[in-house]
Amino acid sequence: MFCPSLFHSRCLSQELNSRVLMLLGQLEKLNGEAVLSDAEVSRHITSKILHLIQTQEKTRKEITAKGSSGMEVILASLESTRDLQTILNILCILNELVSVGGGRRVGVLVSKGGTAILLQLLITTSKEWPPSEELMLQLHTILAKVGPKDRKFGIKARINGALNITVSLLKQNLQNHKLLLPCLQVLRVYSANSVNAVSLGKNGVVELLFKIIGPYSKKNTSILKVTLDTLAALLKSKANARRAVDRTYVPTLLAVYQDWHRNDTRHRHVHIRKAILGCIRNITNIKLGRKAFLEADGMRILYSTSTECLSVRTLDPLINTSSLIMRKCFPKNRLPVPTIRSVFHYQLPHIPAEGPVAQLYRQPPDVDDVVDESDDNDDTEADTENDTENEEDEKNHKTQNDDIETDISKLRPKENLTRPLEDLKMYECFFPELSENFQTPAVLPKSLAPIVVPTAHAPSPLSLAQGELTDLPLDLDSICISKDGPGGAGGRVALEEDTLNGQSQSPVVGSLQGELEHDDDCSSHSSGELGVLEVPDTAALLPLHDPELYIDMVKGTKSVPQYTEVAYPDYFGHVAPTFREHILERVYGVQRAKIFQDIERMIHPNDILDKVVYDLDLKRSPVIDDGESLKFNSQFESGNLRKAVQVRKFEYDLILNSDINSNHYHQWFYFEVSGMRVGSSYRFNIINCEKVNSQFNYGMQVLMYSVQEAISGHPRWVRTGTEICYYKNHFSRSSIAAGGQKGKSYYTMTFTVTFQYRDDVCYFAYHYPYTYSTLKMHLQKLEALRTPQIYLRQDVLCETLGGNSCPLLTITAMPQSSSNDQICQFKNRPYVFLTARVHPGETNASWVMKGTLEFLMSPSPMAQSLRESYVFKIVPMLNPDGVINGNHRCSLSGEDLNRQWQRPSPDLHPTIFHTKGLLQYLSSIQRVPLVYCDYHGHSRKKNVFMYGCSIKETLWQTNVNAAACDLQEDLSYRTLPKILSQLAPAFSMASCSFVVEKSKESTARVVVWREIGVQKSYTMESTLCGCDQGKYKGLQIGTRELEEMGAQFCIALLRLKRLSSPLEFRNSSHFLDVENDLIESRCKVTSSTTYVLDEDEPSFMEEVDYSAESNDEPEPDPDPQETPADEDGLSDSELALRRS
Ligand SMILES: [Zn+2]
Repeated sequence: MFCPSLFHSRCLSQELNSRVLMLLGQLEKLNGEAVLSDAEVSRHITSKILHLIQTQEKTRKEITAKGSSGMEVILASLESTRDLQTILNILCILNELVSVGGGRRVGVLVSKGGTAILLQLLITTSKEWPPSEELMLQLHTILAKVGPKDRKFGIKARINGALNITVSLLKQNLQNHKLLLPCLQVLRVYSANSVNAVSLGKNGVVELLFKIIGPYSKKNTSILKVTLDTLAALLKSKANARRAVDRTYVPTLLAVYQDWHRNDTRHRHVHIRKAILGCIRNITNIKLGRKAFLEADGMRILYSTSTECLSVRTLDPLINTSSLIMRKCFPKNRLPVPTIRSVFHYQLPHIPAEGPVAQLYRQPPDVDDVVDESDDNDDTEADTENDTENEEDEKNHKTQNDDIETDISKLRPKENLTRPLEDLKMYECFFPELSENFQTPAVLPKSLAPIVVPTAHAPSPLSLAQGELTDLPLDLDSICISKDGPGGAGGRVALEEDTLNGQSQSPVVGSLQGELEHDDDCSSHSSGELGVLEVPDTAALLPLHDPELYIDMVKGTKSVPQYTEVAYPDYFGHVAPTFREHILERVYGVQRAKIFQDIERMIHPNDILDKVVYDLDLKRSPVIDDGESLKFNSQFESGNLRKAVQVRKFEYDLILNSDINSNHYHQWFYFEVSGMRVGSSYRFNIINCEKVNSQFNYGMQVLMYSVQEAISGHPRWVRTGTEICYYKNHFSRSSIAAGGQKGKSYYTMTFTVTFQYRDDVCYFAYHYPYTYSTLKMHLQKLEALRTPQIYLRQDVLCETLGGNSCPLLTITAMPQSSSNDQICQFKNRPYVFLTARVHPGETNASWVMKGTLEFLMSPSPMAQSLRESYVFKIVPMLNPDGVINGNHRCSLSGEDLNRQWQRPSPDLHPTIFHTKGLLQYLSSIQRVPLVYCDYHGHSRKKNVFMYGCSIKETLWQTNVNAAACDLQEDLSYRTLPKILSQLAPAFSMASCSFVVEKSKESTARVVVWREIGVQKSYTMESTLCGCDQGKYKGLQIGTRELEEMGAQFCIALLRLKRLSSPLEFRNSSHFLDVENDLIESRCKVTSSTTYVLDEDEPSFMEEVDYSAESNDEPEPDPDPQETPADEDGLSDSELALRRS
C-alpha cells in the first residue's frame, strides 16, 4: 500500500512522547490560522506524526486515550486543509490508528464526529476531476471501518450524497481490485439501510454487482464475498428482488452456487457458498422469486448439493440455509380435507351473537375454509417498501407486558353479585352439610336423592348413584368384544348395537392372537380362531378400576358421534410402569432429516403413495385389507383422528379433527393402529398442528399402549417414539382458521415407532387419556372407600349440552359426635373449592384430581385430619362433553369454557354457570371458600406450578402506578404455593406467577378472586412433558407423579391449616419466608405475551421462535448476541457446536 511516510523514514524512537505531543501542538496551531498557508509545514508535521504512529503503538495509544485531544486536532486539520498530500497523510494516520485496537479506536473517531468530516471530504474530492485514486482508496478504506460502528452511517451517507460517488467510482474501477474492495465494503454498509437499498437498486447497483460475480476462482475471493454480502443486503428490498428475478439472476445464482459446490472440494470457501445462498434466500422472500427458483430447478439443485454436504459437519450452515430456502419455496399444499370444521355437527340451542362460533355459523356452507383464495402471502401488487429507517430506528423494545391489567378498578374486588339472592337459593340443596344436625342416629348421607338444577333445556338430570341408563337409546346389555379378523383393525371392545353397526347379530367375544408372539417375523400372520379375551387382572393395583364397571359407565355416556366402541386402554386400565422415563435427548439433525424427507416428496413424486386409509369425512371409511397398510381407528370416547394418508410404505400423514363447532384447536390426539409389521420403523406425521412450538421439541414423547403388552400382564401407557420433532410444514392454513392472518402454515409433529408384536393393536395419545366414563367409574369406586368417619356426597350439579351429568362431590369428616360442639365445628369448617379439566386436552389435570380424591378418601390420619379441617366441594370435570368428543380446548359450544366465567350462559355454559352459582351462593351466605383451585395442564412448560392473583405484584410489573405500593395486601396468597414447593417434588415456585392479565379476566382464577372474593384463588398447571428441577429432574411425568401431586396438594392444605393457627405460624414463618420471596420476585420481569392461540397462561421463555424457518417472515440476520441463552433456543447445528 502506498504510504507517503515511507519517504521520510527515520528512527525517532527515543524522542517519542514529547515528539508527538509537540507535533500535535504545532498542528493545532496551524489549524487555528484561517488557512493552512504553508502546505509544506503541515505536510511535514503530519508525515512525522504518521511515522511515529507507524512505528510506535504507544503513540497510537496516546492519541486515542481518554482525555486526549489528539483525534480532534487531527480531524480539525483534515477538515481545514486543502492540500492533497496533507490530506493523504492524515488519512493514513487515521487508517493506522483504527487498523489495530479493535473497535474502540473507531468508536473514538466516530464519537469525535469523524463520519461527517470523512463523508464531506468524499463529496469535496469527488468534484475534482479526475479524483485522486490514492485519496479515494484511503478514504474508502477508513469509511469501511467507520461505517459498521456508526449506527447512523447509512443515513448520513445518503443525506450527504455519498452513495452515488461510491457507486460511480465502482463503475469505473471494476477491474481495479485495489480500489474495488474498499468501495464494495463501504457499499455493503450503505446497503444495510433499507432506504439506501431501494435507491441503490434504482441506480443499477444490483446489475453492477452481478458483473463482479464470476465463476469459481481462487483469486479475489474477498472481493467476491463482499459483493455477495452487499447483494444479499440489497435483495432484502422487494423491489430489488423483483429486479433480480426480471434479469434472470436466480438461475445465475444457482449456477454459481453449483460451480462453487463442485470446485470447492476442500471446503475452503464455505463463507462464499453461504453468501450465495444468502442472496437466493432473500430473493425467494417474494413470490416471484420462489416461482423463479422452482422454474430454475432450484429444489433439485439445493436438495442434491445439500445431500452431498451431509457427511461434512462444517457444511451445516449450507445445509441449514438450503433447507430454509427449500421449505420456503416448497409449494403450499392444501390440507386434504373438504372443510376444516369438525367432522361432527352439534346444533347449539342458540348461537352466540358474536365471536368465533357466530362467525362459523355465519359462514356460507359452500365456502372453502381450507385455503384462502389466493394463497400466497405476497406483495406483487404494490411496492410496500417502507421509507422509514427501520434498521436505525431506535426502537425502545417494549419490555413491558401489554397484557398486564393496569386498571386498578379491575383489580379491586367486585362485590356486587350478578345474580339475585333468591335465584341463588336453588343451590342451597347442594349444601346440606350446613343444615344437617345429625340428631337422627346413623344418618349417613348415603342415599343420594337426585338433586335437580333446572337448566335451559335439560330434562331432569339423574344422580350418578341412580341407574342413569334407563332412557338411553342403546340397549347395551349385549356388550361384547368383537374382532373383525386377525391382525385387523378390529380387536377392540365394541358395544354391539345392531342398528348402528349392522354387523354380527350374535354377541361375539373375540380376542387378539391367542398366544403372544414376540418373534420378529414380518410376514402378515393369520389365524381365524376366536378365543376369550384375557382381561388383565389389575384389581389389586388399580383399586378404582373395574373393566365391567367401565363398560357400564360408557353405556351412559352420550357422545355426538354416538360411539359404540371402547378403546382397550380405557377398558383394561393403566398401571404406571415402574421404570423411569427420561426426557428424550435431542438427537443431532433430526429436524433437518425429517424436513429433507418432506422435500423428497417433491423431488421424487413417484415414490409417494398418497393412499387414504382412514377418513371420517367419508360415510364409510375405506376398507384397507391388502396387508400393505396400517389400519386406523379413533371412533371411541376422546378419540379424534380425522384422516390418515399413507404417504410411503412406512409413513403416514395424520389429520386431527377440530373441536366441535370450531375449525381449529388441533393438539390432543388419541387413536388406534393395527395391522403393523414387526420390526419396521413407521413414521407418523400429525400435519395440522397449530402451535408455534411444542414440548415435543424438548424431549416429550408420545404415549403408546400395546394391547399385546396389556394381556401379557403390562396394561400401561408408555412414553414412546424416536426422531420426534415439531416444525412448520407446507400445508397452508386459511385465514379463516388463523385469526384472519393470511399465509400461515400448519405445523407437523412427527414421531417414529417400531412395533414389537405381531397382530397387536396399539393406541397413541398426546397424554395419558382420562375419559369421562373413567371419571364416572372412579367416582363410583370411591364410594367403596367410604368409612363411617367420612362424609361423602355425590350430586349432579347440572346436565351438559350433550346430555351428560356434571358430578359434584362433597367430602369432609363426619362430626365426631352429635354434641353441639362437634356439630358446630362441623358446620364451621372452611370450604375448599376444587375444579378440574375445563380443557379436555389437559388430561393430566384429571390424574392430579384423581390423586386428590383418593387422598381425601383415604383412611390415613392425615386425611382424617384434613377432612376435619375443611369441607371440600369438588367439580372434577368441568367439561365432560369436550372430553367425550375428543375436543382439545372447547365444549360443544365451540368456546373455551375458561373464558366464560364473567358472564357464563346457563344454556351454553351450564357447568360454568352453576359452578359459579355454587360459589356465589357461598358468598351470599358469608361462607366464601378459603381456597379455590382449578387444575390444568401446561403444554409448553416443565414442572407443576401455580398462577394466583395479587394486585401489588400485578402493578409492580407495570410501573404504572407507584402509589400501588402503598396498597395493603395480605401476602398469604403465596403461602400455599410456597408450601407446595417444599412438599411436592414436581412443584416449582420459580414458575409461579401472581400477575393478573387482561386476557385472563374471564378465567376461573381471576373471577373467583375478584367477584367471589377468594384471596387464595389459583390455577394449578401440571406439565405435559416432565421436570427440570427437583427429584424428577430429567424425567417425563407419569400418572404416578401426577396423582402424587394431587395428594401433596391435600397435605399442603393441611399444613396451611396448621400455619393459620397463630401459635404455630409464629414458629414456622421463617421457614416460609413469604416476604423475602416476594421481594425477590419483584426483580423478575415477566416475558411479554404474544398472541397465543390456546395457552392459559403467559408465554414462556422456553418458547423458540420458529419464524426463522418460516415461509412468510423475512429472516433477520443471525446475531449471535440475540441467541437465547436457553439451550432450547438453539438450532441443531448450534447445539452441536456447543456440545463439541
Ligand atoms: Zn388449561
